[in-house]
Amino acid sequence: MAATTPGMVCAHHHLYSTLARGMPPPPRTPTNFQEILELIWWRLDTALDLEMIEWSAKLGALEALEQGTTAIVDHHESPHAIEGSLSVIADACAEVGVRVTTAYGVTDRHGHDGALRGLEENRRFIEGGGNGLVGIHAAFTCTDETLEAAAGLADDLGVGVHVHVAEGPGDADAPQRLAGMTRDDWLLIHGVHLSDNHGLDGTIVHNPRSNLNNAVGYARPFRFRNPVAIGTDGIGAAMIEEFRLAYFMHRSADVTASPETAWSWLEHGWDLVPEARNDRVTWSYDPMDPWYLAFTPGVRPLEVEIDGEVVYRDGSPTKVDATEIRAKAREQAKRLHAKL
Ligand SMILES: [Zn+2]
Repeated sequence: MAATTPGMVCAHHHLYSTLARGMPPPPRTPTNFQEILELIWWRLDTALDLEMIEWSAKLGALEALEQGTTAIVDHHESPHAIEGSLSVIADACAEVGVRVTTAYGVTDRHGHDGALRGLEENRRFIEGGGNGLVGIHAAFTCTDETLEAAAGLADDLGVGVHVHVAEGPGDADAPQRLAGMTRDDWLLIHGVHLSDNHGLDGTIVHNPRSNLNNAVGYARPFRFRNPVAIGTDGIGAAMIEEFRLAYFMHRSADVTASPETAWSWLEHGWDLVPEARNDRVTWSYDPMDPWYLAFTPGVRPLEVEIDGEVVYRDGSPTKVDATEIRAKAREQAKRLHAKL
């Protein structure tokens, strides 16, 4: 038996992190979220060059396709390879056949000049016709001037902003920092440490697996008046699995919770990337119903059609060679890990 759905949407991904798996251990074991950023992610992103970004994105896009995910909302940072990076990601995803909306995460971590170059990369990519949002890493790594410049750029370009918000306790003042700037087309990632009435506009993107991995706490997204979507924060793009986890975390906090709530968060992805509604995934399982899927492991796509083109069939992508992508990505991962 098989059933079809539109393409799954991963509402928050970091395609640049696909090569992180197996990286050398950090100099010491991080003991909190801030140290995880400093000892792992901020060492990794500064080591990236455009060739690594290309193969990281191709592998991430391939792995998305293999899970029936046809649209990725990507958030990118590579402080030593900023210019052109968003085009490299867009081209890599196009080659595999997966839709991507990308953004460069602006930050003052590398000085004001670094922030300006990040803003410029967002402008260059979007003005050139790229499918993007303006990215901000997070309020706690940006000056007020940079936050205002990013919000202003998004207004000028007529797009939303993609920003991490209150993922850890160190960013709990994000609602005050971003007050008056946010709009309905903003993506507010995580929101773990937001108050129930935080006053920000936009979609809250819940990343249950990442929040568990970073021990930042449970966002309890059901408490917000904002729409909620689901992302992976860079840990693959298996959205049915992420839905299951979102349901179980909801259930752990409220035994009356229904999987229909987490399913509605997954469905909100189609409001963020409406084109994914035109994609068709034929699944190994029927029915694709939240009450069945919550308790059914291993559901996988048999065929994926994006914009009328079959891009995945019988376990393989049709536009690219999966074996080649995995081999090239492994070479780039070796180069990356050697720089850490
Ligand atoms: Zn993230």
